[in-house]
Amino acid sequence: MTAADQLIVTAPATDRVNLLGLTRQQLETFFIDLGEKRFRAQQVMKWIHHRGVTDFAEMTDLSQPLRVRLTEIAEITPPSIAEQHDSQDGTRKWAIAVEGGSLVEAVLIPEGDRATLCVSSQVGCSLDCTFCSTGKQGFQRDLTAAEIIGQVWLAINSYDAWQSGKGRVVTNVVMMGMGEPLLNFDNVVAAMSLMCDDLAYGLSKRKVTLSTSGVVPNLDRLAEWADVSLAVSLHAPNDALRNQIVPINRKYPIQRLLASAKAYLDAQSDKKRVVTIEYTLLAGINDSVELAQELAQLLKDYPCKINLIPFNDFPNSGYERPSGNAVSRFWQVLTDAGFVVTVRTTRGDDIDAACGQLVGEVVDRTRRAERHRAGRSDHSLLESGR
Ligand code: SAH
Ligand code: SF4
Repeated sequence: MTAADQLIVTAPATDRVNLLGLTRQQLETFFIDLGEKRFRAQQVMKWIHHRGVTDFAEMTDLSQPLRVRLTEIAEITPPSIAEQHDSQDGTRKWAIAVEGGSLVEAVLIPEGDRATLCVSSQVGCSLDCTFCSTGKQGFQRDLTAAEIIGQVWLAINSYDAWQSGKGRVVTNVVMMGMGEPLLNFDNVVAAMSLMCDDLAYGLSKRKVTLSTSGVVPNLDRLAEWADVSLAVSLHAPNDALRNQIVPINRKYPIQRLLASAKAYLDAQSDKKRVVTIEYTLLAGINDSVELAQELAQLLKDYPCKINLIPFNDFPNSGYERPSGNAVSRFWQVLTDAGFVVTVRTTRGDDIDAACGQLVGEVVDRTRRAERHRAGRSDHSLLESGR
């Protein structure tokens, strides 16, 4: 059964505040406004994010009247799982139903003693990169902070990790699912703050990665709000080519993007950090040895590592995945030039785990998507080595 066969019913919107998406500061303000002590926020955060509790009645360290009051004015509502698929290689993928009946995806990729969760930030995307099926769906709406952090909550919940006391289910988060995180700035910043907060998921800021195709004005102000790792989706070493495949480049060309990403690094206290440069390899378009050399020249002296992503094909994409040889040649040029280069491995092939693949069958509302009617969508995969 595909998600299209299912009727997605989500809970109707209520006036209650969803505490799931509130940062520590926001929750403290919420309790202070209620005439309660600040530390109530800490108690409630632990219930939500450490123990997976969504029912105020179970929060036994809160007074009975406060529990009743909270039930009246607040809620803890994660998005719901529409579908779950397990790959033979351990990858687990969810189609998640968010309010309004749309689906987004999250993918968990276990690897040794860690597991990386790929999280969506928007339903669809407006930036229209030519090789990206999320882009082909057009933009529907931003996810709320609760819907973003709710993907982490659901991933942990789906393993019964709270109940079984199992180790940490999610050790890394990458904002590489559907959507452009910097176009949903406030909600993404709030969700990332919860990912890193000890009272929530306590991930090291190095293990949370925001990936952007280059919304420069928002990247310019990111350092004021977050200190997570940064990945830049470059895909081409010159503006002429990048203009064609990443349209936002026409507005914010490569040098501006690289300067902004460098400024973000420079603002961090950890001076050893680097930008991950993502480069999706499209056969015959951006995978030649000459372009690898040009990329090496462009990034000479730039603090980065490079992640090559062989294109994940989808029907009517108009692109092809390069051969293994072409990928190796490209990798070799960069490695010889002294870069740290990883090649993203494909995981969860049997369940279409590339982000967007499943949802693409369901979310089909734009005229552009109609032209790609057959379109399963396809999106990012996670590298080994992040
Ligand atoms: N909007 C953000 C984050 C989501 S996309 C961004 O563009 O960075 C995450 C990564 O997946 C990006 O590097 C994107 O270029 C890449 N990607 C998208 N579609 C792909 C495809 N079909 N095959 C391989 N990589 C793809
Ligand atoms: Fe949007 Fe990223 Fe896809 Fe480009 S690659 S259309 S920015 S999700």
